[in-house]
Amino acid sequence: MSNYQQSKQLHERASQVLAGGVSSEFRKFNQPHPLFYERGEGNRIWDVDGNEFLDFTLSQGPLILGHSHPHVLERVTEYSKAGQIFAGQHMLELELAEKLQSLIPCAERMRFSLSGSECDHAAIRLARGYTGRQKFVRFEGHYHGWFDNAVWGNGGTKEQIGPRENPTPVAWTKGLPDRIGEEMIVLPWNDLELLEKTIAEHHEEICAIITEGVMCNNGCIPPEPGFLEGIRALCDRYNILFILDEVITGFRLGMGGAQQYFGVIPDLAVFGKAMASGYPISALVGRQKYMQLLTDGVVIHAGTMNSGNPCIAAAMATIEVLERDNTHEKLFRLGKRLIEGLQAAGNASKHKVLVQGMGPMLNVAFTDAEKVTDYRGTLDFDKAKNGAFIFGMQERGIRLIGRGLWYVSNAHTDADIDRAIATATEVLAEME
Ligand code: PMP
Repeated sequence: MSNYQQSKQLHERASQVLAGGVSSEFRKFNQPHPLFYERGEGNRIWDVDGNEFLDFTLSQGPLILGHSHPHVLERVTEYSKAGQIFAGQHMLELELAEKLQSLIPCAERMRFSLSGSECDHAAIRLARGYTGRQKFVRFEGHYHGWFDNAVWGNGGTKEQIGPRENPTPVAWTKGLPDRIGEEMIVLPWNDLELLEKTIAEHHEEICAIITEGVMCNNGCIPPEPGFLEGIRALCDRYNILFILDEVITGFRLGMGGAQQYFGVIPDLAVFGKAMASGYPISALVGRQKYMQLLTDGVVIHAGTMNSGNPCIAAAMATIEVLERDNTHEKLFRLGKRLIEGLQAAGNASKHKVLVQGMGPMLNVAFTDAEKVTDYRGTLDFDKAKNGAFIFGMQERGIRLIGRGLWYVSNAHTDADIDRAIATATEVLAEME
């Protein structure tokens, strides 16, 4: 392949108008430079140089039905003809809310926004508003959007994060008010003992514990048995809100998200990404007694663009197809084959490869470890080998997320899984 000429020129041009040539930090890192895409359909995407890729990025998760699903496009077109946004209520919005209420265990009430970041932000505000306490607990390597409250502890080197018993909240970016870092406690994930000890000492100042249901922003790490249950028990004991960030797990692990999959019901949860096939919509859902603060206007949530017609229609259409096609059975089946096949390819190669995940999402890493349970474990991942693998796959027509996460969609087939495993085998054999 290796023909990225048009993309190269367009990227140079874009760099004169868009900062870094992109509209989101994560798009900067593609090798050899960000690519320009022209078209996506089903399991494939084409760039401006005519390269065709089998796509496992799914636009970082949203495209659970693949690109350009006809039912989604049809519903969006139909409902947009009636108007784009009303700054008022509309029927399909109500129907979507009723649908989510019936599907998601903790969703007694909800509000719609545009992005996961906004709803994570609103959830933390709501927890502070309800309890009157300032601090919250979050976990190393988890990502809860790019807003000031949330971008501490999602990264950092071993030296920066310090000892595991008392980690330093490391800021992801400049420009954050220093004091926000003091308003959270960052802990390693999957360490219930440490969490219990910390909560016992600090519960009087803690409003919430926020976690992803499966840690997907560094590796793809399931919760250890009892960990989510342990969070639930601590929150009950000390009147702390349990916020489950379902931006990745929502509609991916099942119609009721990670909370249904693991059988642990949070107080508040945030949905986004796969809910609407790439249209901007997210949902803050939760128990009525907490959401009542929004009802009363004691805690404020707002947004001019919230619940516009195309977004609501896209969410409705996506949910209809997910249910109609029994999609999750397929995602787990294909994902399991992918995990086993990629691990076998890794084992047969000269590299140390670890494939971890749930099926609908999974991660390929280069590491000696046989299992990783937290962010600290991912710090030993070999980034150079990962980069070479991702680029090798791209060169053979398979598009992956740069950090090693794979998403499976309803549009993927058994033949796609076979091809991905065979291609990975070739790339691993070629790599130094
Ligand atoms: N939470 C999680 C778990 C995420 O993975 C992301 C995005 N990757 C977000 C929140 C933020 O969502 P958005 O990019 O829609 O703001």
